[in-house]
Amino acid sequence: MSDLLTLAPEGLFCSQAGAHIDPIRPVEKAIITHGHADHARAGHGAVLATRQTLDIMAIRYGENFCGTAQSAECGETLTVGGVTVSLHPAGHVLGSAQVLLQKGGRRTVVSGDYKRQSDPTCAEFELIRCDTFVTEATFGLPVFRHPPASQEIDKLLSSHDLFPEQAHLVGAYALGKAQRVIGELRAAGYEKTIYLHGALEKLTAYYQSQGIDLGSVEPVAKRGKELQGEIILCPPGQLADRWARRFGDPVTAMASGWMRVRARARQRGAELPLILSDHADWDDLCRTILETGAEQIWVTHGAEEALVHWCELNGRKARPLNMIGYDDGEDADNAVAAEV
Ligand SMILES: [Zn+2]
Ligand SMILES: [Zn+2]
Repeated sequence: MSDLLTLAPEGLFCSQAGAHIDPIRPVEKAIITHGHADHARAGHGAVLATRQTLDIMAIRYGENFCGTAQSAECGETLTVGGVTVSLHPAGHVLGSAQVLLQKGGRRTVVSGDYKRQSDPTCAEFELIRCDTFVTEATFGLPVFRHPPASQEIDKLLSSHDLFPEQAHLVGAYALGKAQRVIGELRAAGYEKTIYLHGALEKLTAYYQSQGIDLGSVEPVAKRGKELQGEIILCPPGQLADRWARRFGDPVTAMASGWMRVRARARQRGAELPLILSDHADWDDLCRTILETGAEQIWVTHGAEEALVHWCELNGRKARPLNMIGYDDGEDADNAVAAEV
């Protein structure tokens, strides 16, 4: 299938480099695309990733999250067991990278999670021409078309104008989404202090330490009703929790690509669904597949069958990977939100 990759029980494996990519179980050598919990797990022997992904893993799992860690700059080439390995921005969250494997003129790219929409908090997706492209398919159905982020942020700001006495509570995952919501609010001209649930503090501080300008952000700490009229970010699970009641009668919003689905918004207790995703939507998945020029497409976590079918209609060889251990990516952070 691919000259460079096979599918092992632990995940994608490059036998010539002796390395797994985003393995779901501890392995000897792992290349990690980004810090979300379903891709970046603790306990590997050696890990290769961007400096920022390694930092994020250390924040989440502690300094001893692996035996030895090696960082690579985006675009830097390394030789591992005769395979040339390089990392390239994926536009998903801070530090996220696609993995390019090259040998004998053959090129395979593993995208990890990616998006094409602009994001003030991470480097833009870099298109890489290749023979085999391993794409995610979190939103791999034509119903998923993400509106511009500014449009969704305007919904939040309009509600904030309309109900100036109420706190606006926005559910957002701890890594990536929370910081992007803040960045997009700043881009829209919102200058007031933005308040954070404790579970979002460490990673937000890390983004700031990396030069991402988020303006004034403060922990909620013990405050409650005195934050009426403010915008407050929290992990999605907190929206319907007792914690939310300290703000009186807040307007509850949730920022996720899944907010396209009304039932999901209801299930989350979000009155104001904001369709804001760090994954490519259907159009961007299809466009990216075409632009890579790849003849072989491997499709992983998400709606694999629909995208495989689309690839075949468009003259590409495609296979669903049916890997277990990855969830939809946007819910991945929920389980660990309490830890960070
Ligand atoms: Zn993912
Ligand atoms: Zn992810």
